[in-house]
Formats: sequence, C-alpha cells, structure tokens
Amino acid sequence: MTDPAPHPVTGEFFASPVPPGTGWPGDPASPGTPVARSPARVRALASSAASLDELQARVSVCRACPRLVRWRESVATAGRRASFADQPYWGRPGPAFGDPDAAILLVGLAPAANGTNRTGRMFTGDASGDFLYAALHRTGYANQPTSVAAGDGLELTGVRILATVRCAPPENKPTAQEKATCLPWLRRDLELSPQVHTMMAIGAIGWGGALSAAAALGWQVPRPTPKFAHGAQVILERPDGQPVRLVGCYHVSPHNTFTGRLTPEMLDEVLLSLRR
Ligand code: SF4
Repeated sequence: MTDPAPHPVTGEFFASPVPPGTGWPGDPASPGTPVARSPARVRALASSAASLDELQARVSVCRACPRLVRWRESVATAGRRASFADQPYWGRPGPAFGDPDAAILLVGLAPAANGTNRTGRMFTGDASGDFLYAALHRTGYANQPTSVAAGDGLELTGVRILATVRCAPPENKPTAQEKATCLPWLRRDLELSPQVHTMMAIGAIGWGGALSAAAALGWQVPRPTPKFAHGAQVILERPDGQPVRLVGCYHVSPHNTFTGRLTPEMLDEVLLSLRR
C-alpha cells in the first residue's frame, strides 16, 4: 500500500489500493464486505448476493485470482503511469457502473491497468472510455460526454456497463481459468436483472462471457455457438421464455478506433439499435 494521495475530483486522500469503504466516490463496499479468495467462494458469495448493490460490493473486494490480484496491485503501487503518479489508484476489481434498472447491459472485456484500475469506474480515464462515453452521450444514454474520474457527475440512463473479467489482466489477456473464476459475478448480475432485454458485447471476450453466463443460467443459446462479429445478433431465451438479444460491437480500444476499424458512426448505430 502506498502513502495517501489526493483524489483528482474530491481532493480526499487515499492509499493505493483503496481500502474498502473509505469514501472513494462510487465505492460499493464497506470494511466488512466479505472477500472471495477462491473460485468456490466467488460462486458462494455471488449466488448469495441478495441485490445488485451487495453483488457489486462483493465484486469490488474479490481476491480469487492470484495473478490478477498481484498485477492490479503492482500497477496501483509501483507501476503507475508517470502522468498519474501523483494520483491514488483504485487497484481493486471494477464493479458495474450505470443505471441499476437498465434494460441494456454493455459487457466489456476487463478493466484497463491505468483506466478502471486507477479510477474505480468502468471505462473511465482512458482513450477507450473517451470513445465509448462520447457515443453514449450522443445517443442519449449519458448525461455528459466525458468520463474522467469517479465523482465527476457522470450518470447513465437505461444502460449499465460491466466486464467479463473484473480485474485488469496483464496485456489485457485473462486466462481461461480467470474468465471461468470470474463468471459467477456476471451470472448473478443477470439473475438479479430480469428486466434486461438486450446485451451489447464490446469485443469478442465480452461476447464469449455473455454467452457463457447465459448457458450457465440455463438460458437457450443457439447451437453451434454463435461467432462474434461487429453487428452480429443472436436471440437468447431465459427459462421463463423471455428473449434477450445479444449484439456484437468491435471493442472501443485505440487499436480499433485509431485505425478506423470502429468509427463513431458505427458505434452510434449499434447503440441506437439496442433500444426496443
Ligand atoms: Fe475476483 Fe474476477 Fe478479479 Fe478474479 S478477475 S480476482 S474472480 S473479481
């Protein structure tokens, strides 16, 4: 843990990683939130979470993947980007962000080392987030076009954002085991969100995570497993017969947006198609 440094919005001082329940904007946890330290505990704590708030609190203190815990905390302490070296780093899993009553879920890959892992909020504080939130604002889901830091006033309506893997992985590449360990958090999120009628997968790993979570919940998933593509759509079915549409979108990373593979117009078109 590092010496405390001031939060870029509130000016309050925090150590890195941020201890739970110490006043970080949007921190869902308290000092007493139970911590999962194994895959079995992730399954148990996810399935017993009685609400989305409780689920996000438990997600945000999880320590079940040793490699990812080491990585997220090493970036938050000794490995901060030089331009953020004077800021505290969240250094914990990224909880879901957005409208708790949303009918649309955006499912990403994982937090970025100097984005969500620094700010504690999904897609906040990096180029991927700049691109995504500008589009969410243009299409009417966000109250402002920028997402700089937790506590900056950003609010989403009708949309909630989460990730398949909740901790920043080295080189943005979680292992198969890490994806499987983290899946119960997403699975429970879907169970607690019966109003969700559409999911947008941000990239292939988000697509795979959404399909895996749906299959684990006993939803009907087309066979063979549908392949990810930008603009791809499949209809999943909950056990009660309610359909859930899954839509693919290229990831909003600079790798795609700086090269023109994903343009603002393409992202706007997919986002606008999510409303029923
Ligand atoms: Fe826990 Fe998921 Fe992070 Fe693994 S990736 S430590 S399961 S929150």
